[in-house]
Amino acid sequence: MDTELSTRYTRRALLKILGAGIAQSAQRTPSAPANIIFIMSDDHAAHAISAYGSKINRTPNIDRIAQGGMRMLNCFCTNSICTPSRGAIMTGQYSHISGVKTLADGLDGARPNLAKYMRAAGYQTAMIGKWHLKNDPTGFDYWNILPGQGLYHNPEFIEMGRRKKHTGYCTDLIADFSLDWLRRRDPSKPFFLMCHHKAPHRPWQPGPKHANLYEGVDIPEPDNLYDDYKNRSHAAANTKMRVGDDNNAVDLKVVRPVGLEGRELRKWAYQRYIKDYLRCVASVDDNVGRVLDYLDAERLSDNTLVVYTSDQGFFLGDHGYYDKRFMYEESLRMPFLARLPGRVAPGSINKDIVLNIDFAPTFLDLAGQRTPVEMQGRSFRSILNGRTPRDWRTSMYYRYWMHLADHHVPAHYGVRTSRYKLIYFYGKALGSAGAIDKDTQPEWELFDLEKDPREMNNVYADPAYRTVVKKLKATLEKHRRAYGDS
Ligand code: CA
Repeated sequence: MDTELSTRYTRRALLKILGAGIAQSAQRTPSAPANIIFIMSDDHAAHAISAYGSKINRTPNIDRIAQGGMRMLNCFCTNSICTPSRGAIMTGQYSHISGVKTLADGLDGARPNLAKYMRAAGYQTAMIGKWHLKNDPTGFDYWNILPGQGLYHNPEFIEMGRRKKHTGYCTDLIADFSLDWLRRRDPSKPFFLMCHHKAPHRPWQPGPKHANLYEGVDIPEPDNLYDDYKNRSHAAANTKMRVGDDNNAVDLKVVRPVGLEGRELRKWAYQRYIKDYLRCVASVDDNVGRVLDYLDAERLSDNTLVVYTSDQGFFLGDHGYYDKRFMYEESLRMPFLARLPGRVAPGSINKDIVLNIDFAPTFLDLAGQRTPVEMQGRSFRSILNGRTPRDWRTSMYYRYWMHLADHHVPAHYGVRTSRYKLIYFYGKALGSAGAIDKDTQPEWELFDLEKDPREMNNVYADPAYRTVVKKLKATLEKHRRAYGDS
């Protein structure tokens, strides 16, 4: 990994890289380049999609993508928080290279990014919806974004630099604007559209169409909603993202009833928040359906890669939590569904480890482009085609940076293989080289995902896993060196 290159871009270096990208476009594959629609929602966990076996809701339209294409079971984010994941997707880089480590960081618009490369490859490019990378988007022929988090109801958008307030529900509007752009695009050129929904991000405000969905129905609780964090880290036990205890009145839309506490409070608050979350998801699903219907009607489905994903996962009461940030499964996993008739087998399922830093190389590969030198991800186009490269990664590296910021999650890094996960809470504040935060001590967690898929039992200190720990620590250090994060 060339950290020098990535952290110290001069204008000349940038032009050189972009120039190389343009030169590569001459080497495009002869077949007609596929259009790409990248639909990404915000905080939509895979286990709230019926194609992923959700026990709590149905998503018939998102499922259409899975039925017509591939469902990836082990797609992971490299830093489970909104802005950094978006930075990773745009740059193909880990947070420490992209410069987007925390919610406070913006994406430097002068750097190369996925949209610039797609445009150089001859694509029309558009970004519609939640951008959340602070600085204005670059590389897009058209953009119409929410300012920051944006609002669910009657939101303001920034269209090519101009602010305008709109009437309606955010998820519907993002689909409206996406369809408008598709209708007026240049049909002689392939397109790359990023359609980014704000939903179902907190504070989970449903639209009028779904306001009464699930009324009078109890949503099933996850089996570890009342987790007691026995045999786990202090980090897991001390976090402030517990359903009920840490939800506020904005989350729950009502003031907590007096006297409600403990298990009863959690039970009540879970139903309050999860129903609103799922109502927001229902609107996303409807609007995915509108886009798919448009592609069918315009006979574009056969040559368009449709992706559905989310910037990270989310706890749906799992471990008693809401929110994300942790390297635990529900937060780490991104849904990733991809449909491209003739090139991705319908109804296929894949278990290879793919990462958000791989998205850009994959889309560029589909556009006939080599992976740019500064990107740290790798194209998984051949995996989508049903062939896993023999040297594909068997483990992944993760790092969360926002030490004890919102929700009191300590910064940590770790490694996950198909069977194990090793996490190190290193106990230091961001930017403080030597200081150990008084609230946290360095601590390790090891989970045997085969025996303990819900991550309820930290076996780090179990002598039976001594060899496993040793090997995983070596793998972790190998990743840290390779990615320039040591
Ligand atoms: Ca998010």
